[in-house]
Amino acid sequence: MKQQIVLLGATGSVGQSTLSILRDHPDRYSLFMASGHKNVEQMLALVTEFKPQHLVVTEAQAYKSLQQRWPASSQTQLHFGEQALLDLVAMAEVDAVVAAIVGAAGLLPTLAAAKAGKKIILANKESLVIAGELLMAEARRNHALLLPIDSEHNALFQCLPQGKVDLSVSSLLLTASGGPFREHSLEQLVQVTPAQACKHPNWSMGQKISVDSATLMNKGLELIEACWLFDVNADQVEVVVHPQSIIHSMVRYVDGSVLAQLGSPDMRIPIAHALAWPERIASGAQPLDFHQLASLTFEPPDLERFPCLVLAREAQHLAGLAPVYLNAANEEAVAAFLNGQLAFMDIAGVNAKVLAQVGVEPLESVSQLQHEDQRARAIAHQHIQRLAL
Ligand code: NAD
Ligand code: MG
Repeated sequence: MKQQIVLLGATGSVGQSTLSILRDHPDRYSLFMASGHKNVEQMLALVTEFKPQHLVVTEAQAYKSLQQRWPASSQTQLHFGEQALLDLVAMAEVDAVVAAIVGAAGLLPTLAAAKAGKKIILANKESLVIAGELLMAEARRNHALLLPIDSEHNALFQCLPQGKVDLSVSSLLLTASGGPFREHSLEQLVQVTPAQACKHPNWSMGQKISVDSATLMNKGLELIEACWLFDVNADQVEVVVHPQSIIHSMVRYVDGSVLAQLGSPDMRIPIAHALAWPERIASGAQPLDFHQLASLTFEPPDLERFPCLVLAREAQHLAGLAPVYLNAANEEAVAAFLNGQLAFMDIAGVNAKVLAQVGVEPLESVSQLQHEDQRARAIAHQHIQRLAL
């Protein structure tokens, strides 16, 4: 029996890498539903090639345009809006949900998959950052299997005993490439452009995560993600800069052993791992050529030039709504930077200011989270306007 796959965020970078694996393994996987936001051409292309039973579009203009261009012969049902996502994710025939929407917009469909007890292949780190407690509890309650495909967390999962932290583990070592500005001075960082920030040295990714990699916010979000996935506190997660992106993360054991997962920097490796787990399938990625690898180097992250990493640790220590505030601020600040409204170093500035305004109440429900998320975005906008270029 083929596994029926839901692919949330099919038009994005992770979405396209996932489709590449489905293309290579038509005997194992069938695309039940795909979702996209704005990219009409890519949605039409994937409907033609993969013939999913359902396509959900979450942006009104793109939906209109797709209605006009919908092929008369298509067997795929076209839907609009988030509610359609939530309904289809939970359908009985769905075996696995690949959560690859970017940002807080991915939360509700990921939660719906957890409620429905699905196998969740999680790329959307922001949902764990803002709602880790709620999402993990929902997954536990409904026996949903959560497999991370963020490359670092997938590496940790592979290096941990049974994918879990136990008393034999002393710490988790998240590796970071350091991004395109690893060697920039503070003066140079003030000048960098969106095009430079989106040009990651090792990975090809969506714009938002590329900017997050350049500020090291991505590693900060991943630190919080690791805490929820593996039930550890922030002090048990070390960050080490490894510019070659060959080691994707490591686990330190109490006896002094360190286990690492290595591979080409290609998202198809963690995606194939999670899709097939506990089996293994070909991913299409280039095998590592150890004769070509000149060296693997390591250095500590520079917290002065990359303060977002400090903010993320602080948010995880504060707990409650702090990660919600930090994530909302960061989404707005990154969007403003990409629009040419905000300077690169002001992303961290906006994030720090919004985080400083979080209240002390605990995170209790999704509706409270959404309300606070909107409030944090409004505060971020005030700061962005003040700092606007
Ligand atoms: P992307 O920008 O390339 O794609 C984002 C996807 O989300 C697109 O399909 C888009 O249509 C959809 N989307 C955007 N806004 C939406 C909204 N408001 N409602 C519904 N759908 C919306 O991003 P990406 O690089 O593929 O990253 C996706 C997620 O995976 C992010 O959370 C990112 O942090 C994580 N991730 C990505 C990579 C990578 O290599 N790209 C690696 C690890 C983790
Ligand atoms: Mg990552």
